[in-house]
Amino acid sequence: MQVCYTINELLSAVDKFKQEGKTIGLLPTMGALHQGHLSLARRAKEENDVLICSVFVNPIQFNNKEDLEKYPRDLESDIRMLEEIGCDVVFAPSAEEVYAEKPTIAYDFGALEQVLEGPCRPGHFNGVATIVHRLFNWSKADRAYFGEKDYQQIAIVKDLVRQYSIPIRIVECPVYRDEDGLATSSRNKRLSEQARKIAPKIHEILAKSKKMSTTLSCSQIKSFVESEFNMRKEFKLEYFEIVDAVTLQPIKQTSVKGAVGCVAVWLDGVRLIDIQKY
Ligand code: AMP
Repeated sequence: MQVCYTINELLSAVDKFKQEGKTIGLLPTMGALHQGHLSLARRAKEENDVLICSVFVNPIQFNNKEDLEKYPRDLESDIRMLEEIGCDVVFAPSAEEVYAEKPTIAYDFGALEQVLEGPCRPGHFNGVATIVHRLFNWSKADRAYFGEKDYQQIAIVKDLVRQYSIPIRIVECPVYRDEDGLATSSRNKRLSEQARKIAPKIHEILAKSKKMSTTLSCSQIKSFVESEFNMRKEFKLEYFEIVDAVTLQPIKQTSVKGAVGCVAVWLDGVRLIDIQKY
């Protein structure tokens, strides 16, 4: 496995793969890898001749300075984990390397970015689009792998690919959960032992709402989920929305069938997100 720290190193590795006629799978990450990332990495490795995994904590997608500073980083462990699953290239550039060329594009994702994470994290998706666009260009990947935990991110990335005619296929991967149901996340590492024990409630509440979804209306499900979070003082609910799976706009119809519930909730000073498909 090759570890590239510069764009030129990555471009040379990619050129070689292309000359050999190999297909390339790309997995963009911010590191502090966990089993969720590895489930995507294994799939990418299975479906492509080579896997390029990027590990880069992208400063311009953070709207909160403290979140950026506290974001867990462990490149050594990331490299070890990726080596074990047969990754071919790890791209771990510095921010100076990535942004030596200053970003010039102001992306516009219209209504897609005006809901859910968009209003809560101003500039976030512009930052995501900037790095993902660059990674797509540098890696010349055939397929790029994204997790449904960041449901809105997938919709944004698909729109990026459409708007800029990027020849890449976006592969959506299911949420990977710990045994107790908590969606694995790099930010889980920041939870206290006690908060970690409470965190599975997030999925529990959402799963319960799914069970109720055949008999309850959209607004009833929304009230149920909101009250479940609000009655527990450990949680501070930022939003829970039931949205159309494609447009991400809050659904207007009574039945939630086919829609997606998206939640952002604070626990122990850590912001966690999760989804529920109905
Ligand atoms: P991150 O390092 O958090 O930016 O995540 C990198 C990629 O892994 C993103 O496409 C995430 O959606 C995906 N990912 C992170 N956690 C999970 C999970 N628990 N299940 C599935 N995909 C995940």
